[in-house]
Amino acid sequence: MIIDCHGHYTTAPRQHEGWRTQQIEAHTAGKPPPPRPTMTDDEIRETIVGGQLKVQRERGTDLTIFSPRAAGMGHHLGDATTSEAWASACNELIHRVCSLFPKNFIGVGMLPQSARVSPQNCIAEIGRCVNEYGFVGVNLNPDPSGGHWQDPPLSDHYWYPVYEKMVEYDIPAMIHVSASCNPAFHTTGSHYLSGDTTGFNQLMTSSVFKDFPTIKFIIPHGGGAVPYHWGRFRGLAQDAKLGLLSEIVLKNIFFDTCVYHLPGQELLAKVIPVDNIIFASEMIGAVRGIDPETGHHYDDTKRYIEQLPLSVDDKAKIFEGNARRVYGRLSATIEKQSARAV
Ligand SMILES: [Zn+2]
Repeated sequence: MIIDCHGHYTTAPRQHEGWRTQQIEAHTAGKPPPPRPTMTDDEIRETIVGGQLKVQRERGTDLTIFSPRAAGMGHHLGDATTSEAWASACNELIHRVCSLFPKNFIGVGMLPQSARVSPQNCIAEIGRCVNEYGFVGVNLNPDPSGGHWQDPPLSDHYWYPVYEKMVEYDIPAMIHVSASCNPAFHTTGSHYLSGDTTGFNQLMTSSVFKDFPTIKFIIPHGGGAVPYHWGRFRGLAQDAKLGLLSEIVLKNIFFDTCVYHLPGQELLAKVIPVDNIIFASEMIGAVRGIDPETGHHYDDTKRYIEQLPLSVDDKAKIFEGNARRVYGRLSATIEKQSARAV
């Protein structure tokens, strides 16, 4: 089985994002939001059959761990109330996709975060995602301010209510920023990659893994700059007398394979132990073009992994085994959703 742990619903029906625009406009004008739009099952099916499901079939993958569009989370917009309503709408839509295509999609939730608002307000939505929707993880935004980094670092007890729930439910979090409202940062370029790198660095120098020994985080986009600069982080850990980097982080931190060229994948697989790498493509996401050097889509990451000098068993860990281990509820959810599909 080939499990892609990083997919977003970038092809959602137009009225979904349309409502978000109206919601924020209403909030700015001090008015209540309009009623949520109607979306039929057929409309949702159409966006998936011609979108993520089509690409799964073309590329030969089986299951996508699927969450709301990341840049669309927009935690810097509106306030805690608008974030709660928007997260609720987005997660409900993911649940509908997973119900319509139970063999192909399993959900991960976005959180109703807001800049400088305690993540305590995410607890109810995490419970709904796990208990009502059967989701297996969450996306945690380390910078809800959208590129201004106004919240405490992930090492801070500020975030502990979310960590407690992650451990209680046995769900990992993918550290994933949203859109940048700071013109210095390009959303899916420098903002995403620095969000990944910053999140890793904050956790690495923290006592989070001492306080939550079983907690698990996925650093997306191949870990940002982390694998490339593994020597720097090893040296920083050593200088700070934190111990060996591999011993500090590798029980709790995992890297996905959203790296869009073979040399990058080779480096990832050379630096990071195979047990800490999880297959992902983020298809129909940030980079949608075809690489003229290969003739294939940049985000067709399965091709790169197939070319790595790894054993069949190691590739099976990257494609399936590690995801089942890191997403503690995944195997049971696959069973449950497959039964529903029959
Ligand atoms: Zn993403």
